[in-house]
Amino acid sequence: MAAFGTVFIPEMAIARFDGNRWSPSEIVSSDSIQLHPGAHVLHYSSTCFEGLKAFRHEDGSINIFRMDRNIERFSQSSELLALPAIDKAATGQMIIDIVSRYKDEVPAPPGSMYIRPTHFGTEPAIGKAAAPSVTSFQYILLSPVGDYFAGGDTTLRLLLEENGARCAAHMGMIKSGGNYASALRPIMKAKQAFNADQVLFCPEGDVQETGAANFLLIDGNTVITKALDESFLHGVTRDSILTLARDLGMDVQERQLSVDELLERAAKPGCEAALSGTAAVLTPVGTLIHDGKDYPVGNGGIGQTTLKLRQALNDIQWGKAEDKHGWLTRI
Ligand SMILES: *Cc1c(COP(=O)(O)O)cnc(C)c1O
Repeated sequence: MAAFGTVFIPEMAIARFDGNRWSPSEIVSSDSIQLHPGAHVLHYSSTCFEGLKAFRHEDGSINIFRMDRNIERFSQSSELLALPAIDKAATGQMIIDIVSRYKDEVPAPPGSMYIRPTHFGTEPAIGKAAAPSVTSFQYILLSPVGDYFAGGDTTLRLLLEENGARCAAHMGMIKSGGNYASALRPIMKAKQAFNADQVLFCPEGDVQETGAANFLLIDGNTVITKALDESFLHGVTRDSILTLARDLGMDVQERQLSVDELLERAAKPGCEAALSGTAAVLTPVGTLIHDGKDYPVGNGGIGQTTLKLRQALNDIQWGKAEDKHGWLTRI
């Protein structure tokens, strides 16, 4: 099986903003794009993206999960980066058009079609370090993906990082390239020095998120995760899992979680932790690394509540449970 995100559908939907208006969307080959070497994005990182999925149901229908939420966040990222405003309705139509055109290529569960909307500044102007790009380019790229857990479920090792930050605090809720560049070296160092899979950024002891996923602590019937603020990415999976946890009668606490409280709770036998994100849905965390020491979460294994919540979400995505919250766009 090819690595996640390395297989692409040969065409994509595109639209260009010329400074005044968006062009009608077109379907073009996805093997290359042409950019001026002075394009704003290449110098000043005026770029944002989204990640969402389309699922095949047994009746043959294709269903896109929480598309409106992702378009809303795409629009917000564009606005916060001073990119031209996207046309939300047109973007939704571009997604539907390209997924419909390639609906036969949408893998059956546990696979799906990963959808990657991308928007960046194209103005050839290298003197615009402190000014926005007037023009921009938007595309919807598709990548069929298989079972993320095909190798069997394992648990992740997370390094708790209290001194560094994933990105600048005011950039946290923007899904933007620069933020991943900012987190890359700390993650590479954590892999090398501690055999960690990810870094859980905890600036000043405040448990926040990893490089590309939100963090949830599951202690018995209680789910604890950081309350929304502008310092981190507001995951659609996070919101969906919290909604399903409330539906199951769990006590969901969106609030500050300190490293001290995290380590104290993790030491209890039944405690679980997980990372949430579109790619991996909900991935169990088995070990926290703090001050050079390993701390197992609960018994260090795969949490049963984590699996139950992931299954509840997959059941809706895969058409096996009622879509009570109206999360699916059927095409
Ligand atoms: C994309 C992303 C997430 C997860 O968001 P989902 O909408 O659940 O996929 C969390 N944190 C960061 C930094 C991300 O880029």
